[in-house]
Amino acid sequence: MHYLPSPARYHDMTYRRCGHSGLKLPALSLGLWHNFGDVDTLATGRATLRRAFDAGVTHFDLANNYGPPPGSAELNFGRVLREDFGSYRDELIISTKAGYHMWEGPYGEWGSKKYLVSSLDQSLRRLGLEYVDIFYHHRPDPDTPLLETMTALDLLVRQGKALYVGLSNYQPAEAREAFRILRELGTPCLIHQPKYSMLERWVEDGLLDLLGEEGVGCIPFSPLAQGLLTDKYLHGIPADSRVAKGVGFLTETQLTPERLEQVRRLNELAQNRHQSLAQMALAWLLKDARVTSVLIGASRPEQLTDSLQCLQNLAFSADELAAIEQILQG
Ligand code: NDP
Repeated sequence: MHYLPSPARYHDMTYRRCGHSGLKLPALSLGLWHNFGDVDTLATGRATLRRAFDAGVTHFDLANNYGPPPGSAELNFGRVLREDFGSYRDELIISTKAGYHMWEGPYGEWGSKKYLVSSLDQSLRRLGLEYVDIFYHHRPDPDTPLLETMTALDLLVRQGKALYVGLSNYQPAEAREAFRILRELGTPCLIHQPKYSMLERWVEDGLLDLLGEEGVGCIPFSPLAQGLLTDKYLHGIPADSRVAKGVGFLTETQLTPERLEQVRRLNELAQNRHQSLAQMALAWLLKDARVTSVLIGASRPEQLTDSLQCLQNLAFSADELAAIEQILQG
C-alpha cells in the first residue's frame, strides 16, 4: 500500500548535534545489521522502517556486508527507499561502511583505497543512491597506512559520494591520529561508532573523553547488547529471538545464570522507573551529552515503539545510577 509518512513525525523526537558539526541526529537511530537481509521478511522490515520514520527517526545505518547474504540489507533498504521514501531523501541520513570481508581476493576487505572506493561504489548501486550521508571505515586495518585509508575517505567526500566520514571500532590512540589526518585533509571526522552498553564499557576508558575534546560525535552500537538488556531472555529463549535464530554473535552460552540474575535485577529497577529494561538501557546511554545518538536494532515495529519511549524518561537520580553500578559489578 502506498505510504504517506505521519505529518506528526517531528513532534516527539529530539535531535542532538553531532560533535562540533552542523549535523543533528535523532536521539535514536535504526541499524540494519540484522532483520533486513534476504533471510528476513521484507514486509516486517518495511513496517519497522516506516514506524521509525513516522516517529522522527531520520537516520538509518547500514554496511556493505549487512544481510545475510552480504549486500542484501542495502538492496532491501534501497527498495524501500525507492518505493516508500523516494520523496523524502532530503529528510534522511543514510550511512554505510566498509572494512569487513565483502568479496574474494586481496581487495575485498580492510582499509586500502582500492577496497574503500570500490566498496562504496557497490553500496551506492545497491542502495540506488548518488551519495550516502556518512561513510565509515568499519574497523581499523593494522597493515594499511592510516594516511592511505583517511585519504580514501577524503577522496570519496570530494567526489561527492559521501557528505561526511566516520570511524568505527577504532581505539583512542588510532582514532586521535586519524582525526588529525582527516582534519589536515579538510574532511573532519564527523562521528565514531563504538560498541557501548551497560555490559560493554570500554569507551569510558579514554574514547568518550577524546570524542568530547575533538568535537566528534558518538553513536553507540548494540546498546541493548543484542537483546540481552531486555526482559526477553528472563523466562527462556523465545523462538523468534536472535539467540534462537543463531544468526549473529549472541549465543546461548552468554545467557549464564549470573548474567540473567543481573538482567533480572536491572529489570526490577527499570520497572520502578516505570520503564521497560530496554528503555532504561537506552536512557542510560543518552544521559551522556557526548553521545549523539544511540543505534538500536529492532526485529519488528513493536520493539521500535517500545524503545522510542525511553525518551519519556531520560533522567536518573544519583541513587538509581549507584544501584545500576552495584548490579553491574555484582
Ligand atoms: P541492539 O543491542 O539494539 O539489539 C537489537 C535486538 O534487540 C533486536 O534485534 C531485538 O532482538 C532486541 N530488541 C530491540 N528492541 C527491543 C525491545 N524494545 N524489547 C525487546 N527486545 C528488543 O542492537 P544491534 O546489535 O542490533 O545493533 C544495532 C545496530 O548497530 C546494527 O543494526 C548496526 O547498524 C550497528 N552495528 C555496528 C557494528 C559496527 O561494527 N560498527 C557492529 C554491530 C552493530 P530479537 O532479534 O531477538 O527480537
